[in-house]
Amino acid sequence: MTYGGIETGGSKWECAVGSAPDDLRAIETIATTTPEETIGHAVAFFEREGPVEAIGIGSFGPIDQKLSSPTWGYITTTPKPGWAHADVGQEIRRRVSVPVAFDTDVNAAALAEHRWGACQGLDTFCYITVGTGIGGGGMAGGKLLHGLLHPEFGHMRIPHDRDADPFDGVCPYHGDCWEGLASGRAIEARWGQPAASLDGDPAVWELEARYLALGLVSVMCVLSPERIVIGGGVAHHDGLLALVRRDVLALMNGYLEASAVGDEIEDYITLPGLGTRAGVLGAIALAESISHA
Ligand code: ZN
Repeated sequence: MTYGGIETGGSKWECAVGSAPDDLRAIETIATTTPEETIGHAVAFFEREGPVEAIGIGSFGPIDQKLSSPTWGYITTTPKPGWAHADVGQEIRRRVSVPVAFDTDVNAAALAEHRWGACQGLDTFCYITVGTGIGGGGMAGGKLLHGLLHPEFGHMRIPHDRDADPFDGVCPYHGDCWEGLASGRAIEARWGQPAASLDGDPAVWELEARYLALGLVSVMCVLSPERIVIGGGVAHHDGLLALVRRDVLALMNGYLEASAVGDEIEDYITLPGLGTRAGVLGAIALAESISHA
């Protein structure tokens, strides 16, 4: 069987045809411009590289993924210009004429890590991306996390000591939520340079690790994940995860009696097994999941 997958991001879409990490037959990156133009390029890719049984879409959000909703497949309240209330899922389903599965980019990545990557054999875990923004998804009891809408890890509130860090935060809705303080966009706004060019400044990464750890401790207390996978461009900064693990252990202060939150924390808070391909592979796994339904 051959499936299509799309990881839609705010700056680029990654489209692929295949069935598994060792069976990606075509892959293409498309710049995110207007919905009409970007969807048009994706449809042309599948017309050229297909046929496919089904297409999975792991999307930036927030999104409407409730199957019973008339606006299923839409991106909803994104501040990204031109994309608020854009129909992605229904439009692609109509134009390619195959079943479409639609979920968040982070739930898609979580599904791929479960199927082929760092979370095989686990049924409760989180996938968190720390890049331009912060997002989180995962599974509880073997099912992808959904609910009223879908989880919005990036918008939880974390303690913000304004004496130590007077920065107001960049979230247009909340200012100093987790994403507002610790995303790549926040790092760039606070320090006046993109995260990638701040490698040599320990103060940047000590503060970043502290904020990431504050969020992770809340995630651990609420969801009790068996593993936390952290992807995204900021997370790959050399040495950052080691600082995050140190701060998580300090904040937990020995309360959780599990080796994962002790000697084995390197395996507990970890990078994706599938690297930067987790999202698009997850979209393929989403497509597979509906074509077996
Ligand atoms: Zn927010």
